[in-house]
Formats: sequence, C-alpha cells, structure tokens
Amino acid sequence: MNMEAFVLGCGGMQPLPYRHLTSVLLRREGDLFLFDGGEGTQVSLKRLNLKWKKISAIFVSHTHADHVTGLPGILMLSSQVDRKEPLYIFGPPKIKEYIETSRRVLDMYINYPIVVKEIEAPCVVYDGGDFYVRAFPLEHSKTCVGYTLEELDRPGEFNPDKALELKVPRGPLWGKLQHGESVINEDGVEVKSEQVVGKARSGRKFSFVTDTVYLPSITDNVRGSDLLICEGMFAQDCLDQAKEKKHMTAIQAATIARDADVKRMAMIHYSPRYNDKDLKDLLEEAQSVWPKTELTRDRMHFEIPYED
Ligand SMILES: [Zn+2]
Ligand SMILES: [Zn+2]
Repeated sequence: MNMEAFVLGCGGMQPLPYRHLTSVLLRREGDLFLFDGGEGTQVSLKRLNLKWKKISAIFVSHTHADHVTGLPGILMLSSQVDRKEPLYIFGPPKIKEYIETSRRVLDMYINYPIVVKEIEAPCVVYDGGDFYVRAFPLEHSKTCVGYTLEELDRPGEFNPDKALELKVPRGPLWGKLQHGESVINEDGVEVKSEQVVGKARSGRKFSFVTDTVYLPSITDNVRGSDLLICEGMFAQDCLDQAKEKKHMTAIQAATIARDADVKRMAMIHYSPRYNDKDLKDLLEEAQSVWPKTELTRDRMHFEIPYED
C-alpha cells in the first residue's frame, strides 16, 4: 500500500513568489489527507495534478492566517463535485467559526456534507480502521497542535498452500497457526507457525509539527516516525526571536529528529527572511546535529515505504 507526502507549500508567515505557505498532502492508497492549507495550496495541488476533490479530511494545526487562508479556495473549488462522503475538518478552537463564516460570507453552496470538529489535544481525531490520526499539544502564540498518522501493525500473511503442503488440514489447526501456535500434522510431525505465516510488518508513521517552541514532549509524540515534517523556521542566531515568536530553529528541529530516532526528517515553515539560497545555512546547522536532515521545497514528494 503506497503512502507518500507532497509538500504543497513550505513557507511561514508570508508567501513568496517562489514559496507558498505551509501545506502538506498525504496520500495513502486512495485516501488524501491535507495538513494545513496556507495560501498557494490550490496552485500546488493543480500543478501536481492531484485529485484534490477526493480529500477525506483536513487537519489544521492552528488558525493563524499562514496555515488556513488557502482553505476557503479549496472548499470553493470543490463545491460541486460528485461525492457523497463528508469532508472532515479538524483543528483547535475557532476553526469551526472560520470555516462557517467563510462559507456564509462567500456564499459557498457545497453539495456534500462538511463536518468541522474542534479538538482538544491530546486525542485521537480520526480513526481510519487500520490507521489513526492523533493530535498532541504544541506551544505557540495561540492554541496549536501537532499530528501523527500511524498505521496499526499488520500480522504476517497466512499461506494456505504451504499449510496443505505440510499436511495440516483446513480447520481449527489453521487458526492455531495463524495465532502463532505450533500444531501436529497428519503425519504426527510438528509444524511451527512461522513455517506458514509470514513476518509481521510494523505500521508506518507520519508526523507533522509546525508553529511551536521546542518542547521535549514533541520528541515522545513523533518517536520512530518514518517521516517527520517539522518546523525549522530560523537559524540559530535568531534563537531569541524564535523564542519570542514561539517558533523553532533548524537546530531544534534536528534535535527532535535525533532524539526521536526518526527515519527521515524534512524542515518546513521557513521565515520569509531566508531566500532559497539562504536555506542551505539552515540545513547545515541542522545537519551538524542530525546529518540526515532534509529541506522541503514546494511540490516536493516523499515516499514513505515499509521498513522491509
Ligand atoms: Zn505559521
Ligand atoms: Zn502560527
């Protein structure tokens, strides 16, 4: 099952001609999930030719303009589409008022249900059956949350042909093998579970963290992520400014990646003071702490494969 993330915008505060505001789309098989929707989200969706009409849920970190001003456009664009399933929008307090006011003032007539839920982190916000999305608290100048999308571990696959070949008849013995027990076959020989059941696969984890001061609890929440998209807004010489504005530096993002033992981390939500060339300095600083740090860029794509 494919899982991949598309960066629709990587900027913070203000859009730049070459950098849209923060937004990441996660595609997991047929499902699309949007994490924040700043200005320019729509443009990137169209340029990537993604089927935005099928977005199942939007997860909003907080209601600062650089994270939500792209949303009314997305709703407007997808107002009359062939769909019956509701579109869920999750976020901290005020998200409901923001969406409802936008719909009313902009006269949006949408032909499918839009369900807006205000959340109080930590909590599970979305249950997809074999995966779930959880929100956890961050610390910013207004209520802000981080998100993780985690798959449940998948049991190893049972091979019926192999069981028959090993002379274990169809029936209750198969159930025992599937539950990890050994059984005795028709010839009186022991057959072990691992002979007919493949290896269990651990589920994948995607984390999205932006607009916060550095908190050790972030590390615990994103631990073991296959991909962490994390704010790295400032270089270290702006540490005081970062603290005052309740944001993180590249080095703090890298510290989280290192301590949380993530497999991949890419920074997002850059201050508009840095042009694309300057980002190399942020990258170098971060890599001094965690060498595998990467930069996100608009319309960049990340595969999130299984571990094996
Ligand atoms: Zn922001
Ligand atoms: Zn903010």
